[in-house]
Amino acid sequence: MAQDPLILSAQPAGIQKAAALLAQGALVAFPTETVYGLGADARNGRAVAAIFEAKGRPSFNPLIVHVPNVEAAKALCIWSDAAEGLAMHFWPGPLSMVLPLRADHGLSSLVTAGLPTVALRVPAHPAAQALLQRFAGPVAAPSANPSGRISPTTAAHVQEDLGSKVAAIIDDGPCPVGLESTIVGLDGVPRLLRPGGVPAEDIQAALGADLLASEDGIVSAPGQLLSHYAPRAAVRLNAAQKTPDEVFLGFGDIACDLNLSPSADLKEAAANLFEYLHRLDRTGRPIAVAPVPARGLGTAINDRLRRAAAPR
Ligand code: AMP
Ligand code: MG
Repeated sequence: MAQDPLILSAQPAGIQKAAALLAQGALVAFPTETVYGLGADARNGRAVAAIFEAKGRPSFNPLIVHVPNVEAAKALCIWSDAAEGLAMHFWPGPLSMVLPLRADHGLSSLVTAGLPTVALRVPAHPAAQALLQRFAGPVAAPSANPSGRISPTTAAHVQEDLGSKVAAIIDDGPCPVGLESTIVGLDGVPRLLRPGGVPAEDIQAALGADLLASEDGIVSAPGQLLSHYAPRAAVRLNAAQKTPDEVFLGFGDIACDLNLSPSADLKEAAANLFEYLHRLDRTGRPIAVAPVPARGLGTAINDRLRRAAAPR
């Protein structure tokens, strides 16, 4: 039977317990200045898959990775003068920056949805800061609500909405901003990807340059980003076997080149999905994919596979 979540305080004992749970791959909800986040170790693919499972998201969108300071951010991305300028003005705070990944980033490819970039944020909330410092690793954290429901700004909202799907909730009262973070893309010309807690005018002033609007304008519809990762190769779905020139991405008890989960575990399959697509794509051959059941996380896996297979 699933257990009720532990309700932890933001005092050192509670923070220590929450950090230990994250290290074990468990989900921990915690307050930030924007909304309560649903946190997992961003390096642990199964833990990240559990975020999507708990939220019941019908598709995989890249998640924002939370770090305690600029130094920890620099360990994950290719830093730039623009990033330095915005970090000086707005970090810690409700600003997320999308930057190119470093080669040795160590993040699960599910966190970035297979993209070569990562969204990073240093939150200001004292409980979030304490947790990130104690955990001493990157924490993926979208809002702690089921997909399609409103974002939680109290621990009680999280408990009502996610209940036993989280191991613990750090309760430190209502969130002060209650609005999501502003997301700025810095992997090219600076672009506003999502309006939020920091006004776009302030960002523009800090950059001393224009901030372009998002190219597709629908970034609030997660998973719809035109820039989402798609393999170069042709992808054929629901294949029983491969043809001689194809490479075969399997699921369950099946002979194949790479198996998303030999034991047909959807969480394991989600954790491997982007990395395995990348690996098979590098062979330069068309990719056949075995059927993946469309239940639980399988819905999001199939959504992503359909996008990968769509004509371009
Ligand atoms: P949240 O649900 O608050 O974690 O916000 C996630 C949103 O951040 C996604 O839906 C994207 O719009 C945006 N995002 C995260 N990572 C990236 C990325 N690497 N490139 C572009 N947008 C990103
Ligand atoms: Mg949300």
